[in-house]
Amino acid sequence: MKSERILVIGANGQIGSVLVEYLRGMYGENQVIASDLKVNSERQDYFEVLDATDGKTLDKIVKRHSITQIYHLAAILSAKGEQDPLNTWQINMQTYFNVLEVARENGVKKIFYPSSIAVFGAHVHGSADQFSYLDPSTVYGISKAAGENWSNYYFNRYGMDIRSLRYPGIISYQSMPGGGTTDYAVDIYHKAVKGEHFDCFLEENTTLPMIYMSDAMDATVRLMEAPAEKITVRTGYNLAGMSFSPKEIYDSILKIIPDFEISYKPDYRQAIAESWPQQIDDSEARTDWGWRPAYSLDKMTEEMITELRKKYE
Ligand code: NAD
Repeated sequence: MKSERILVIGANGQIGSVLVEYLRGMYGENQVIASDLKVNSERQDYFEVLDATDGKTLDKIVKRHSITQIYHLAAILSAKGEQDPLNTWQINMQTYFNVLEVARENGVKKIFYPSSIAVFGAHVHGSADQFSYLDPSTVYGISKAAGENWSNYYFNRYGMDIRSLRYPGIISYQSMPGGGTTDYAVDIYHKAVKGEHFDCFLEENTTLPMIYMSDAMDATVRLMEAPAEKITVRTGYNLAGMSFSPKEIYDSILKIIPDFEISYKPDYRQAIAESWPQQIDDSEARTDWGWRPAYSLDKMTEEMITELRKKYE
């Protein structure tokens, strides 16, 4: 295990900033190289500046550090991606093609590719199962569905060990989200703890699949550590934590902060949210590599508020 040399691309983001610490805890501080467009002012050791659209620099970094595993987190997310669709496609796909090719040429042993519930579209009503039809409504979702298929292609064609999760919206106290449709579910806790009014950009009964960061980390590492013969899905595994609406998360927060106030002001993100499933059936992940989430909505709310109070007080 200690001999792994891991490169995390897009390490300064919501997931990366937590994942790098998590992986360093497992594999050792100097075994995990973080990389992103700009240096992270808080964590400069074992860091490389990398624009992953630049395959040559990626190749040099992989060689310099004898990388054996790549976690490719860099992407433009669902809501932000709609502002410039062709640029989003270009960045999301070009970075992944570079990762696939550099990994193939350098014999990188494993790749993690984060997919998303955004691969599902309007033809999935309610609950999405593993093999539900994919007709994504956003350019982000289209790029993730394509990325999944390329993962499967490189597995079949070159035998590369690429593993992927369709993350639901991720909720964390350590880091802020980077332009997704589920961002409200992080922001709401910050406003509640700061004693501010919250304007929600989704309608009160819009239910979406979500997951707490701690569960997302557990799922990611569980998948990556599973024996290869257990991996039966080489596109992207469905992954579920919990599903809730803005009204339900608000009610959960009210149990701890009774004077918290909310207004609903839906914007363009409402249409994106309505194109996504409300529930995710993750039976394959449970059967293949023993996935079980540990957090309910109320348990997550307690921990989010406790941790954010430490941050703001
Ligand atoms: P984020 O936006 O917070 O972070 C992405 C990081 O990638 C940023 O630090 C950004 O600077 C970097 N980046 C962008 N373009 C780059 C490039 N060309 N080269 C190198 N780095 C670049 O995103 P996140 O929430 O941490 O998500 C990480 C991954 O997980 C993404 O692929 C995202 O699609 C996926 N995902 C996230 C969620 C979620 O709720 N956060 C849900 C589903 C899937």
